[in-house]
Amino acid sequence: MRLTGKVAVVTGAASGMGKAIAELYAAEGAQVVVSDLRVEAAQAVVEGIEAKGGVALAVAANVAKEEDVQQLIDAAVEKYGTVDILVNNAGIMDNFVPAAELTDDLWERIFAVNTTGPMRTIRKVLPLFLEKKAGVIVNIASAGGLFGSRAGAAYTASKHAVVGLTKNVGFQYATQGIRCNAIAPGGVNTNIGTSINAPSPFGMERAMVGIQVNPRAGEPEEIAKVALFLASDDASFVNGTVVTADAGWTAY
Ligand code: NAD
Repeated sequence: MRLTGKVAVVTGAASGMGKAIAELYAAEGAQVVVSDLRVEAAQAVVEGIEAKGGVALAVAANVAKEEDVQQLIDAAVEKYGTVDILVNNAGIMDNFVPAAELTDDLWERIFAVNTTGPMRTIRKVLPLFLEKKAGVIVNIASAGGLFGSRAGAAYTASKHAVVGLTKNVGFQYATQGIRCNAIAPGGVNTNIGTSINAPSPFGMERAMVGIQVNPRAGEPEEIAKVALFLASDDASFVNGTVVTADAGWTAY
């Protein structure tokens, strides 16, 4: 058990990678706060964890709202006393909308969830981490946060920003027992494609052109294993970096 005694907050944990991360962390001994917009689905994840003997709490939180983020971290501290691990996983995708088609509204919606959300959760947990000189942050970025051609403009920019945030936080707090890393998954079998109602102006055929070279789609559990490594002491010398998990898609 690699996370015994740790308290982990996972955002967007009602489905996909967040769910897989919450379940694996709980199986490794963490007390897990399963947070999502969709609290009923988060509660179902909690019940699944409890059925296997794990410990978890569902908390409704929209990471795009400052007051929700405050309530999320407060709820974790009230229930479990602290936060040791923060996983910024909640995210939405703009379905390959190129810059010429972008509206301010879409740009702001994507950034509010994918970039401002992680900034806010990080800002809230850092005082806890600094007090105990310990803490781990795992941000779920994207291959689109490293390479530009395979997602929409807002999504790509928002995930590049998450990579920058990760590197900055990793560096700034490196001497204080805090680590901050990101994972850049390639295509993973989840519901992200339906996260907003914005069909691709190209049609999915065109949108998938870059994706055809993807060796295969990943499963959420494969990303969860990377997130477990980064959260655990096994990654004690890993900080301020991005781990790609994409079966080699972005290697060429
Ligand atoms: P998913 O849609 O299955 O899960 C995302 C979860 O986030 C959902 O449960 C959703 O309800 C929640 N969510 C959305 N907006 C939220 C908000 N404002 N506040 C709180 N929760 C919110 O998708 P997924 O693929 O598991 O996505 C997880 C992360 O992985 C995202 O950050 C996504 O950008 C990233 N990612 C996904 C892929 C992929 O191919 N699926 C690839 C690279 C990166």
